[in-house]
Amino acid sequence: MNIIEITKNLYLIPLDQNLPGFKPFIASWLYKGEKNFLVDVGPASTIPVLLNALETLDVTSLDAVLLTHIHIDHAGGIGDLSSRFPDTPIVCHNSAFPHLKDPSRLWEGSLKTLGAIAQAYGPIQPVRESLLCDAAQFRDFGITPFLTPGHAVHHVSYLFGDYLFGGEAGGVFTEFPDGSCYLRPATPPRFFLETGVQSVETLLQVPHKLFCYGHFGVTKKTPELLKAHKRQLFEWADIIREQMRTADTEAEMLANCMKTLLQKDPLLARWDQMDAGVRQRETTFFHNSIRGFVGYLKET
Ligand SMILES: [Zn+2]
Repeated sequence: MNIIEITKNLYLIPLDQNLPGFKPFIASWLYKGEKNFLVDVGPASTIPVLLNALETLDVTSLDAVLLTHIHIDHAGGIGDLSSRFPDTPIVCHNSAFPHLKDPSRLWEGSLKTLGAIAQAYGPIQPVRESLLCDAAQFRDFGITPFLTPGHAVHHVSYLFGDYLFGGEAGGVFTEFPDGSCYLRPATPPRFFLETGVQSVETLLQVPHKLFCYGHFGVTKKTPELLKAHKRQLFEWADIIREQMRTADTEAEMLANCMKTLLQKDPLLARWDQMDAGVRQRETTFFHNSIRGFVGYLKET
């Protein structure tokens, strides 16, 4: 069982998917202490892996499940997990409630955006409405939620002690064995630069020692990486605005943006050291992040 012990109480549970570049990419965070809680649960396909990890770690009860957002790769398995922990409250943004109660639109939307990837993640089961807790009101167990829209309008980050669980509000992170990292904005349409930047600023004001990413892993280089990510968002806007002027087709524009960003953005410098599967995965999400900027820049 592949469980990564970060500290005595904090575990990173990789939820590897049977897709190129997804080993690892998706994960659930487990805090195990006086209270036990999860941050994100991954898709339905890997709920058995998550349950197995909880069993391995002797976690028989969960006091809360915190969802950073309800995209299928973070919350698609919530219905399946909830049927195993039927009394555990589920904390998320209240605008996500209807979609967790009846996930049919969430599933259709996932299929439309992600296609075969959504199929691999598996269909989303509903949860009982009475379990849903509004993150904006939640203050139990010393957990403090922060509304951090940008990656999604309903995105929430959570502070517990020294740990800040930032979902995708700080970008998508990969660490290399030498300590260097790759960090890409996670800005799918509809993205609003000011909103994304404001959320990074919110996180920058939260004292913490470890920043726990939704994808993938943890850094002690915080708040440095959050500051770098904020600069990166502005740089992406400048570069993409420039490329939008010259490209004739969307495909050409995406290719030009990606090429220029890879040349100019120091946080993407490790691209060539990532394996082919990871680059394939990243290209898909990279394009989506560029599309988010393009949509925003067209309106401003
Ligand atoms: Zn995600």
